[in-house]
Order: sequence, then C-alpha cells, then structure tokens
Amino acid sequence: MTSTAFRDHEEVVFFREPDCGLSAIIAVHSTALGPACGGVRFHAYGDEQEAIDDVLRLSAAMSLKNALAGLPFGGGKSVIIGDPRRDKTPALLAAFGRAVERLAGRYIAAEDVGMSPADIAIVGRQTRHVAGLDRGPAASGDPSPVTARGVLRGIEVAVRHRLGRSGLAGATVGVLGLGHVGSALAGLLHEAGARLVVADIAADRCRAIADRYGARVVPVDALVGERLDVFAPCALGGILNAETIGRLAAPVVAGAANNQLADEASADALHMRGILYAPDFAINAGGIVNVAAEIAGNYDRAAVLRRVDRIADTLDEIFIRAAREGRSPHFVAVDLAQERLDAARRARQQTA
Ligand code: NAD
Repeated sequence: MTSTAFRDHEEVVFFREPDCGLSAIIAVHSTALGPACGGVRFHAYGDEQEAIDDVLRLSAAMSLKNALAGLPFGGGKSVIIGDPRRDKTPALLAAFGRAVERLAGRYIAAEDVGMSPADIAIVGRQTRHVAGLDRGPAASGDPSPVTARGVLRGIEVAVRHRLGRSGLAGATVGVLGLGHVGSALAGLLHEAGARLVVADIAADRCRAIADRYGARVVPVDALVGERLDVFAPCALGGILNAETIGRLAAPVVAGAANNQLADEASADALHMRGILYAPDFAINAGGIVNVAAEIAGNYDRAAVLRRVDRIADTLDEIFIRAAREGRSPHFVAVDLAQERLDAARRARQQTA
C-alpha cells in the first residue's frame, strides 16, 4: 500500500528540527490543477510508518476532493508527529512554517485535526503559503461549520436516494466524533428536525451535545450497531472496515471524516449490503471550498455557502451514475475526479 501510494506522489518531504521537537512530513500528491492545498494534521501517531501512510492517503484524497469540487488546486497534506496538547509550541509551529516555505508555494497549508486558525496564524508568520486564517483582509476562519453545512446537504441527498424521503425531520442520525465538524453538524441536524445518537471518546463533548440538542449518548464502539437512518462518521479515518460494516445497521453512511474506508474492498462491502455510501472526499469538501475563497483573495461568505450547497448536485450525479452502473458511489466519484485530473495533466503537457 505505502510504496504504491508513495510512487503516485510528485513530492514527499520529511522535516526535522530536534531543538523544538518538529517531526513533520509534507506530501504533494498532484499539482496538475494548481498548487497542492490541504490541511496540517497534528497527531500522536503510534510510529513514523503510521504517519507516512496517513499523509499519503490524505494527500491523494485531497487531489480527488479538489478536482471534484472544481477548485484550481492540487492535492497535498502534511502531518506533524506529536501530541498537540503536549508538544504544540510557538517554536515548533514556526519551524513548521519554515518547512512549508521551503516548498516555495507548491503546498498551501490549512487547518486539520489538531490545528486551529490561531496555530495557522503562527505558521503564517514564516510563510505566506497558508490559508484558513481568522484575521486579515480575506480571512475565512474556521472551515468546520462550512464543512458541516456541506455534509448536511450530502446527508439530505443520500436520504432522498436511499430512503425516498425529503428532509430530515424525524430521521435518526448517528454522529461519531463531536469535534469542530461533528458538533456543528449535530446543531444543523437538530435544526433540521433529526433525532441524534452520538458518541465520542471525550465524554464532556457528548454531555454538551446531549444537553444542547437532547442527543442520546452511546459508547463509541456501539454506535455503528445502533438502529439509525444515517451513520455520520466525523472522527478519524478507517472506521468503515470488515468488522464495522458487518455490524452496521444504517442504510446510509454520510459523514465528514477523511478516509473513512479502511480499504477499497470496504466500498464494495457497503455496496453489497445495500448501504449507500457518500464518498468522503465529495461530501466533506465544504472546508476546502471555504479556504479556496480566502486564497483567491475575495472571501464572500454567501458565495461560499452557495458553492458548498452544490455538493448536493455533485452527490446527486454520483448516486445516479452509481445506480445506473450498479457499483459503489466511491468508485464513481474516483472516476469523475480522475477524469478531471487527467484532462488537466494532458492540458499541461500540451502547453509545456
Ligand atoms: P476535531 O479534532 O475537532 O474532532 C475530532 C473528534 O473526534 C474529537 O471530538 C475527538 O475526541 C473524536 N474522536 C477521536 N477519535 C475518536 C474515536 N476513536 N471514536 C470517537 N471519537 C473520536 O476534528 P474535526 O476538524 O472536527 O474533523 C473531523 C473529521 O473531519 C476528520 O477526519 C477531518 O479530517 C475531517 N474533515 C474536517 C474538515 C474541517 O473543516 N475541519 C474538513 C474536511 C474533513
């Protein structure tokens, strides 16, 4: 898996600054459509190989996501290896900023798990190749509420296709992970009249959502087995694997987490069980659409939200084509994105 994923990349660079404890990897998967744009994940990986696998999968997914969202950006991602609560210091973030600067604009760093707009601002003192700031002329701030809005639109479309109902009033939705996106999504689902069942390893986050929206809290491992209309993974990747898919009781999976599928066989397994899966890189593009508007230098929230709502049209097209071709929406979405990437590569070769 790793060697193939590695060969697919244009550039993968390791950075280390022992004085401040920085150990980071920046992966540029493709610049066919423009500079590679993707988040910085600050995470306590078990070992370096786990970090490498994660950054390569995430950066490849960013190429698909940006292509599918029609953005003029390639795919890239970076990881900082460490526990953000313990290891994140201004000196380390500054060192990471110098690392981004060394790629001279081929990679633009935005927020991901373990990073905040304030952290990105510190990185941005060393390089202008950052986005997702909460201050400045075109600042777009935390992308998470915008991502949640796109996920809500995606859930609505998936429910229409699979369950034949319009709107989410009375639907039961399970949200796994109540961080920046999951908690915002819970609020939107509550407003839409959905019943919530939630789980997170952080008990205080569960309590807050239970108090605010009347959500029922279940243990993390139990959520996939709950009787739900929609299972919305909003924590980390790999949640859809042979074991969880076997227990999954929901007819729809549609959530924000990146790399939800443990492997491609999991897409087929969901399809075989009649579970409609909204490809993660299609449904969770709201954040990068938000960030792209900042990079373009003309951030307009209303225009961003209109564009994010078009995620519904993209998913509609994917679900229709998947039904026609009798295969998983995951493979249809990959094909759609790949067609755009190939066309961009050909156009670049012709002008070179
Ligand atoms: P976050 O760090 O704010 O939240 C993650 C939440 O998941 C936390 O509450 C954490 O306690 C919980 N969690 C971690 N491991 C868990 C486990 N094993 N079981 C249950 N809960 C667990 O992150 P976020 O910004 O909300 O992003 C969530 C997911 O969405 C990530 O996969 C991220 O890559 C993806 N995503 C985020 C955005 C964005 O705009 N923030 C955009 C696209 C995709």
